[in-house]
Amino acid sequence: MPRSSPSVLVVGGGAASVFVTVALRERAAALGLPAPEVTVVARDIPVGLGLAYGRAEAHHRLNSPASAMSLSSAEQGGFLAHLDEMGWRDVDGSEASAGSFIPRQVYGGYVAGAFQALLDDPASGVTAVQGEAVSVVDVGGRSAVTLADATELQADVVVLALGNPPPGRVRVPTAGVGRTVDDPWARGALDGIRATDRVLLIGTGLTTIDIATSLARRHPGVVMTATSRHLLLPAVHLVAPVPAWPGFVSSGEAPRLPGLLREFGRQLRTASAAGEPWQPVLDGVRPQIHALWQALDAADRKRFVAHVARRWDVHRHRMAQSVWAELSALIDSGTLTLSADVSGEEFDVAVNCTGPNSVAAPGWSPLVDGLLSAGAVVPDPAGLGFDADASGALVGAAGGVSTRLFAIGAALKGALWETVAVPEVRLVATRIAERVLPA
Ligand SMILES: Cc1cc2nc3c(=O)[nH]c(=O)nc-3n(C[C@H](O)[C@H](O)[C@H](O)COP(=O)(O)OP(=O)(O)OC[C@H]3O[C@@H](n4cnc5c(N)ncnc54)[C@H](O)[C@@H]3O)c2cc1C
Repeated sequence: MPRSSPSVLVVGGGAASVFVTVALRERAAALGLPAPEVTVVARDIPVGLGLAYGRAEAHHRLNSPASAMSLSSAEQGGFLAHLDEMGWRDVDGSEASAGSFIPRQVYGGYVAGAFQALLDDPASGVTAVQGEAVSVVDVGGRSAVTLADATELQADVVVLALGNPPPGRVRVPTAGVGRTVDDPWARGALDGIRATDRVLLIGTGLTTIDIATSLARRHPGVVMTATSRHLLLPAVHLVAPVPAWPGFVSSGEAPRLPGLLREFGRQLRTASAAGEPWQPVLDGVRPQIHALWQALDAADRKRFVAHVARRWDVHRHRMAQSVWAELSALIDSGTLTLSADVSGEEFDVAVNCTGPNSVAAPGWSPLVDGLLSAGAVVPDPAGLGFDADASGALVGAAGGVSTRLFAIGAALKGALWETVAVPEVRLVATRIAERVLPA
């Protein structure tokens, strides 16, 4: 008689909830265990789309190549196989390849379709409940999750896959602006913007690129200005991918930030001297980021956030070549101007494109507020999310690591630094599954 698997409740119906579900099922299968019962509590149905894939417009592209986007950690070509099966062709008629940057809506179809297939199979043990989770409490060795409509659900393990909170307050002076859009991803947020509006986009990152291209497509002739202090745009992916470098060789000592940055700089200079691109150097470090970040002390993490993070982000989160082509055409035509020095009176509407706030920020989620005030979770020392270990097991105010409460995605930014993109979401989902279903 095989041992039974603990039941798992995942809060949040974005892509991460599907990654957790898939990882748990793969882990149980690898151990010869029955698949665990998984319930996803989701504010929005269908499960799997979330913010990144549910709010995307048809022209918004993934910023990672198709080969990196499989749901399964066992089957790396899963997304490509899906595209092949559906006979997907790009706007120019080309088939998808490992290095293709596919529209986000298409990716959402893959993730949501995989979850729907589990829901359609009564033997899968996977269910979805639409609603908002407002509290998670211990009840006699299990967890009870209460929804806003007072429904109570119980499970052995709870995974918080809460995704991305709306943007925080902006530092740019917006006094004098006619009106502001505080969250560009809210449904219909851009609908009130007219072709004649002078638009200020606050931020120069990936959100700005999405919103600028969307507004230019809706309203040809619209005039936009994007502002940030540094005016750094995200870097661009190479036309043809190059194998990643080996990353850092550990000296066996606990790393300190200055030494890591020196070594990184040395590798970049070596690449440059050899006429090689910098992208594979960064790609080589990426798989080691969790270990390096966890080995840094709190002071070095804060230093990184204050002085390095912005440059890291613009090089790490790169846009596809086709996106760059569209964006640079907007800049060349004067549709989009970049300016560090703006004044509110010059604009009819300002759009906050600064990106998501910290998951641990108070006020955006009754569930998070309750968990913080109960001490079930605590903010990480850098204030970017929740304190947790490498498997996403959450640290409470008493200091211990929970065996029943986990998080995945943006909530782990301060604990692991690289946590929101699919490769890291998949990795953490695998670690959660290994913890919930030990060998
Ligand atoms: C605009 C955008 C584009 C992106 N593009 C890429 C990309 O190209 N490649 C890549 O690898 N990554 C990309 N990402 C990163 C993205 O974060 C991940 O790929 C992934 O989609 C994260 O999913 P998630 O489930 O963690 O979060 P989300 O998609 O934000 O989903 C979380 C869900 O949980 C729900 N929720 C929150 N609280 C509760 C509650 N209390 N009760 C019930 N439901 C709740 C929310 O309503 C939401 O639907 C992008 C992110 C964004 C924002």
